[in-house]
Amino acid sequence: MHIRKMISTSNNIKLMHLRGIGFIIIIMNTLFLTMGITDDIDLERIIVFSEVFLQLLIFLLYWRKLANLAKSSVILWIAHLCCSIFVLQPENLVFQFYFIAIPPFLGYIDDYKNSYSRILSLISLLLYNVAIAYQTVSDIHAGVSPKIAIVGYFNQFVVGIVLISVFLLHFKINRSSLKKATEESTLDPLTNALNRRAMEVDLQIFHKNHRGKGTYLMMMDLDHFKSLNDLFGHQVGDLILKGLVNIVNRTVRSGDRLYRYGGEEFLLITQDVDEAQVLQIAEKIRENICLHSWEVLKGKGVTCSFGLAPLLNDFPIRDSIELADRALYRAKSEGRNRVCLETPSTVEGQLSSESVINKKDSAFTES
Ligand code: GH3
Ligand code: MG
Ligand code: MG
Repeated sequence: MHIRKMISTSNNIKLMHLRGIGFIIIIMNTLFLTMGITDDIDLERIIVFSEVFLQLLIFLLYWRKLANLAKSSVILWIAHLCCSIFVLQPENLVFQFYFIAIPPFLGYIDDYKNSYSRILSLISLLLYNVAIAYQTVSDIHAGVSPKIAIVGYFNQFVVGIVLISVFLLHFKINRSSLKKATEESTLDPLTNALNRRAMEVDLQIFHKNHRGKGTYLMMMDLDHFKSLNDLFGHQVGDLILKGLVNIVNRTVRSGDRLYRYGGEEFLLITQDVDEAQVLQIAEKIRENICLHSWEVLKGKGVTCSFGLAPLLNDFPIRDSIELADRALYRAKSEGRNRVCLETPSTVEGQLSSESVINKKDSAFTES
């Protein structure tokens, strides 16, 4: 699924909250406007009225902006500029603070990954709050009715708080949605094992950067899975695949990575192990699969065959995959439910990687 679409779908509920906050602010301002009118000072009434208008516009624009991140940024900038110029009048200096605070904030929404943009937004919002407090005190000293000055301050303070909240919420939403979307795009939806795309990326990384004693590929293939499907149905087959992934994940160490290679075949990449250790791990997984009692199979057991091969710096990835595949083939032909290992020295001069690439429809490219 398209990542941006996923973000906007998962954010719908939170955006409703943002709109709710916007409307509460507008209602509060309407109340303040009524209080302002009782003081019967025309200029102040215009100020408060303009604030209501500006805030209404800001929230409508946020609404639009957040609902449609991609398309509205230019419209938003132009609308904000017109609005600021309209209300920014020489005798009405307080609106400069809106002008100072809001553009970097909007810039942040567009560019939230950039830390300079984040810092700039935070500084501007902080300055904004200091400035409105200073303005209020000056107004009172200059003889403006304290009631009007404090109403004005409160008005702008609340806007500042809301801006900061929206800013933080938006940041959080984007971060968590992106994280979720990225995770989902690397997982196999049926089994929750990592998918083929993640495997191809990781293989390149593991091939370049080795950790500890050695890195091994472990190819696993369920035995006679087709007849299990035929006997019990595909839904039961699916449950077995999920169960297999759970068993493997419970058995291996946290740094090991399990991928669905295709159908009922899985690949485990395990790091910091020597040959004896990787054989031991494979044997342990094989045993756990064998010993597991599958409720859905009414007492019938499941077995799995394993093909192991090292992943070496100076040996192409595709050849390591082929080695693991050969080892798996040997495990099958020697009677299944067993672990076999191949190393480059055991098959010297016999590798034909192209046949494996075609068979698995893979896109491995050596770096
Ligand atoms: P072998 O021991 O030689 O590996 O025999 P096998 O029957 O396991 O191997 P074969 O390649 O003949 O069959 C694999 C079966 O796996 C065929 C296919 O229907 C089944 N399969 C592949 N993907 C899925 C899946 O996502 N769900 C289910 N239920 N079955 C699947
Ligand atoms: Mg198979
Ligand atoms: Mg099989």
